[in-house]
Amino acid sequence: MTKAKNRKILLLPGDGIGPEVVKEVKKIIEWFNKNKSLDFSFEEELIGGASIDANKIPITDEVFYKSLDSEAVILGACGGPKWDNLEFSKKPERALLKLRKELKLFANLRPAICFKQLVDSSTLKPEIVSGLDIMIVRELTGGIYFGEPRGIEPIENNERKGVNTHSYTTSEIQRIAKVAFDLAKKRKNKVTSCEKSNVMEAGVLWREEVQALKDKEYKKIELNHMLADNCAMQLLRNPKQFDVILADNLFGDMLSDEAAMLTGSLGLLPSASLGSRDKNGKIRSLYEPVHGSAPDIAGKNIANPIAAILSLSMALKYSLDLDKEANLLDAAVQKVLDDGLRTKDIMSKGKKEVTTTDMGDAIISKLK
Ligand code: NAD
Repeated sequence: MTKAKNRKILLLPGDGIGPEVVKEVKKIIEWFNKNKSLDFSFEEELIGGASIDANKIPITDEVFYKSLDSEAVILGACGGPKWDNLEFSKKPERALLKLRKELKLFANLRPAICFKQLVDSSTLKPEIVSGLDIMIVRELTGGIYFGEPRGIEPIENNERKGVNTHSYTTSEIQRIAKVAFDLAKKRKNKVTSCEKSNVMEAGVLWREEVQALKDKEYKKIELNHMLADNCAMQLLRNPKQFDVILADNLFGDMLSDEAAMLTGSLGLLPSASLGSRDKNGKIRSLYEPVHGSAPDIAGKNIANPIAAILSLSMALKYSLDLDKEANLLDAAVQKVLDDGLRTKDIMSKGKKEVTTTDMGDAIISKLK
């Protein structure tokens, strides 16, 4: 077998359970190198609180430049009580914001998958969520979180006014819509685009530009427009009607959290943040579990590593064009759950409770 060309992955374990779950990711990368003749070169660096302790800043320039030079960055988690009292600009989470901003990661991808084996972890009825597989595509660098003018200002009668501006341009809308359409092509060819075009001009523009791009370049995709509040309701009523949901920064933030909770546990949810593809076809990207550093369980070897492992699977698919390997990894996770192995967070009666390390080892054994 010939070796795939050397692919650079940067691992940033971070804080709390970050190092524990990223350790399992590393074992899987090593397995792919050894058994699938892949040639990943990976480095591990400090970020967040761990970097503050060692270097007094949440991310050093050296680590930042390494992230620019990597094909995929996989992060564990940043933050924890030890650094809670630092001022905002010095907190561990600033490292993450810097990476998102400087790598221009405008597309956030959050799959909401409800594994049939874990259907009882959801608060919804099994028949509503079993087999659920949605991808939420959220615009990450525009809209109301960044729009100007913004601020709090004094006004007459001793009152104050808070202002944020929601704005999007044609190119910002079409750039994120393209991500959603391209993803749908690899899935069920269906995109639901959400906005509030009934009450917001920026929503009217969003709807028109998404439709224009579909008509021009994605004729085979089924596109539906839905008001964001209706989408929030439909996610609870009949979530399996969706394939890819496209939304701006604000609505995407809320809809992705709602969709995530349909699936039951934070320990299972991966995410990807992607930038544009450059002329060499390389895409800037950051992959991370949705969960944080979980200080309450850190150091106990009980954290669920599946969200981090599925983040690696997303990296294989979206940054490294290794769909076959990604599918192999996804299938291995399914098989381990089929066997009844569970970390503490997803444990239920009749199943076997395992540690973080055991879960990683079991997934590797199913890759074989
Ligand atoms: P959290 O996601 O860390 O934990 C919430 C709850 O879920 C906890 O009870 C935790 O034990 C549990 N949990 C989370 N991941 C789990 C896993 N893999 N396996 C088993 N149980 C898991 O959220 P939090 O407690 O609000 O935040 C803790 C710290 O993490 C804070 O400092 C916060 O700022 C930071 N944080 C970082 C990120 C990030 O790096 N992307 C995201 C969210 C929170």
